[in-house]
Amino acid sequence: MKIAVQCDFDGTVTEEDVSFLLLDTYVGPRWREYLIEYTEGRIPVGTFNKKVFGMMKADRQTMTELVLNSERVKIRPGFHEMLEYCSQKDFKVVIVSNGLIFYIEAILKYLGVDGIEVHAAENHFSPDGMTVRYVGPDGAEMEVGYKEAYTESLQKRGYDVIYIGNGASDVHPARRSIHTFATTDLLEKCREEDIDCTPFTDFRDVVNGMEDLELY
Ligand SMILES: [Mg+2]
Repeated sequence: MKIAVQCDFDGTVTEEDVSFLLLDTYVGPRWREYLIEYTEGRIPVGTFNKKVFGMMKADRQTMTELVLNSERVKIRPGFHEMLEYCSQKDFKVVIVSNGLIFYIEAILKYLGVDGIEVHAAENHFSPDGMTVRYVGPDGAEMEVGYKEAYTESLQKRGYDVIYIGNGASDVHPARRSIHTFATTDLLEKCREEDIDCTPFTDFRDVVNGMEDLELY
């Protein structure tokens, strides 16, 4: 049995959504109007992100410094332990996020984490506004279904997928996974839909829960 652990980033690895910090700082309150459209299901997450990130005009260095120095960016406890546990068990960890690749890579580097597969929005910095693209496992640009496309791709490569996430958009990959670790909005969704899940507060709960799954 080959196991892959697909993990969300914002609100999962980090306690708060890093992109909210960037948008509050570089766009101001008007981006939240689009957030309402997205949370009400009127626009898909990819469309929402393209729109709001397109309003950010600062350069890479400025944004990276903000992210690495902000008190709003906190890593959920036990992240290193979870990675260590997965490495011992030979579980493949894959981060798939609707967030931006630049800050995910910067934070992982800062944490000294390397060698894990990361898929997130490709972003291009520009004084006219950032451009963002979501590239699926087949190399084609996509607008919807980004996270679950990677779940499906892992399954095609022979993996059973365990999912870790926090947000409403995580329910799509969670539905396809053999087990889900969920917090906040995702936990609520999983309970509504009767998806097999374990609640977590930090990654030590995830490690304990993986032990209890008796997959090996
Ligand atoms: Mg999230």
